[in-house]
Amino acid sequence: MDKKIIDGKLVSASIRETIKERTKVLKEKHSKVPGLAAVLVGEDPASQIYVRNKRKSCEDVGIYSEEHKLPESTTEDELLELIKKLNNDDKINGILVQLPLPNHINDSMILNSVAPEKDVDGFHPVNAGFLFEGKPKFIPCTPHGIIKMLEFYEIDIEGKNAVVLGRSNIVGKPAAILLLQKNATVTICHSRTKNLSDVLKNADIIVAAIGRAHFVKKEMVKEGAVVIDVGINRLETGKLAGDVDFEKIKDIASSITPVPGGVGPMTITMLLWNTVTSLEESIS
Ligand code: NDP
Repeated sequence: MDKKIIDGKLVSASIRETIKERTKVLKEKHSKVPGLAAVLVGEDPASQIYVRNKRKSCEDVGIYSEEHKLPESTTEDELLELIKKLNNDDKINGILVQLPLPNHINDSMILNSVAPEKDVDGFHPVNAGFLFEGKPKFIPCTPHGIIKMLEFYEIDIEGKNAVVLGRSNIVGKPAAILLLQKNATVTICHSRTKNLSDVLKNADIIVAAIGRAHFVKKEMVKEGAVVIDVGINRLETGKLAGDVDFEKIKDIASSITPVPGGVGPMTITMLLWNTVTSLEESIS
């Protein structure tokens, strides 16, 4: 298999076939349909697009979906009330609270109110704890997608030096834990890291998740490295760019993800995966 350009759409399509099979079994054997509820507060245009894409993706694989669009002025109590209702709704196996939430709402308090068994984003401290222990139930979708891509392309992780750029709870930290569990030697870098170029130059696998367009340059990357670009940055031209200088680095990397078309498509796919898993778990 040509491993040079890691095609997120290809991997995603293959995983969605498995998801379709699983939803079919749930329907035929148990007369149940997995359900995903997306909660959106405010008018953030990017969030509106994500939620629309999620709805379409659910339809494609046979997952029931519903959207709860609330005005910017929604209070914490009103949002908590809705989440409580969804936690108790048998039709719903996964609850997704679209971030960012408006400033007057405490993100962590809201995310922590989602029932851990419906937390398909994997952000609840209970699920973070399971992941930390090495017995994950719901893995955050983007890092989960990264591991699935590496597996699909049969890229070795064990014993490799992996450098994760970024330490967010959503991408960087869980990506580092997953790579560690696959027996990589992992370094996590962030805005206070010294000699970042030297650290990167030693990496067999780089996961870049900082949100700075073209931050990782060719001279920072070792010949033959695997480069996973999570960044999504909107350039002044309106085009999307990753955190990695793809055009120059693709000549020396053994494998590299493009933006768009790399990690992006995997994120929604792993959300669908977790939603189906949630229903399966509730039956078993
Ligand atoms: P955050 O803003 O939460 O975290 C960014 C991280 O990058 C922080 O840990 C920060 O360090 C670090 N960082 C920022 N600037 C530098 C720098 N100059 N040098 C070293 N480290 C730096 O971002 P997210 O993790 O949520 O997202 C990262 C990127 O991934 C964004 O572009 C986002 O849009 C994209 N993304 C893409 C997804 C997809 O599906 N493809 C899904 C989720 C995110 P510190 O902690 O010290 O501040």
